[in-house]
Amino acid sequence: MNSDRKNIEFIDLKAQYGKYKDEIDSAILSVCSSAQFILGKEVTVLEENLSNFTNSKHSISLSSGTDALLLALMALDIKAGDEVITTPFTFYASSEVIAFLGAKPVFIDIFEDTYNMNYNLIESKINSKTKAIMPISLYGQTADMNIINEIAAKHNIPVIEDACQSFGAVYDGRKSCNLSTIGTTSFFPSKPLGCYGDGGALFTNDDKIATKILAMRNHGQTERYIHEYLGINGRLDTIQAAVLNVKLKYFDDELKTREKVGSRYTKLINALGKDIITPTIKDDRNSVYAQYSIRIKDRENVIATLTEHGVPTAIHYPKPLHEQKVFDYLGYKRGDFPVSEQVANEIISLPMSPFLSEADQDYIVEKLNLAIKG
Ligand SMILES: *Cc1c(COP(=O)(O)O)cnc(C)c1O
Repeated sequence: MNSDRKNIEFIDLKAQYGKYKDEIDSAILSVCSSAQFILGKEVTVLEENLSNFTNSKHSISLSSGTDALLLALMALDIKAGDEVITTPFTFYASSEVIAFLGAKPVFIDIFEDTYNMNYNLIESKINSKTKAIMPISLYGQTADMNIINEIAAKHNIPVIEDACQSFGAVYDGRKSCNLSTIGTTSFFPSKPLGCYGDGGALFTNDDKIATKILAMRNHGQTERYIHEYLGINGRLDTIQAAVLNVKLKYFDDELKTREKVGSRYTKLINALGKDIITPTIKDDRNSVYAQYSIRIKDRENVIATLTEHGVPTAIHYPKPLHEQKVFDYLGYKRGDFPVSEQVANEIISLPMSPFLSEADQDYIVEKLNLAIKG
């Protein structure tokens, strides 16, 4: 129908593999030859690389971002009856693990510009059961971590940054993942730094927490067959570490390109003069654009037009957590978190990767312009 129709990738992992293929293939094959599939030397190398990158004293690789969040809570002894303050406009995993331990996710709303935790609402929810505050660094931009840390310190509560979307982001001159008591990230393939399967990591400057996590990721073992803590099988595979070690070499370059692609989107879209809300990035931080997400009113029609022209989109996230069936028992209702609810109705993510060409980006913005009336 459209002679100029393109088929754009939402996140171009194939182009990335094409660029690093030789190095990645040989890194994977070398693990196969060594047969050190579990906690092999590439895992140790990765953890050193991660500490160098984030400046965090301890970097512990794990089986996923979800397990990193779970182990963070376990290391802080969070259990049934405890409360953790977090936001409902995010991916489900962070609240899932709180509830999994029998603790209660206590939701507060987000800011309308950054979609991150509205820190003004934290103190009203703090009580004797509050055991942690868990801000999410959504779409690749951190929350107001200095203010959140200050409030937490006043009440002697630890802060866990869910940095699953923000590995590589900078806030107030420091790296995301190393901004609070514990930071957690995900190496899920489509995240800013992704491996070739599931993976994640936890970051802390606290020696006691690090010792516990190292044991807990390996069934709570402190020595072979000596189990001091309740743990899980939470280790990162050596093959995944090998892939990450290659990708990390190019990650700083990719981050620069990500920022360029993100800010170019914003410039092009703002120039359309349409009723589109582009991302707000605060002066004291940047975004690694895990997603490039805009807000529009008539979402369904726009998605249909873009799809028709070979431009894939996604909705991160269509239904806030307080409206998810699994959390019915928490007693929240529609209307409790109006900002989260409104953003969930309007948000749409566009194709984003450091491999998105300017020509493809121009095409996406042109089709967006076509799709949005008025
Ligand atoms: C991806 C993600 C997670 C979960 O990470 P996995 O590695 O998929 O387990 C948690 N929180 C947020 C905000 C995420 O984006």
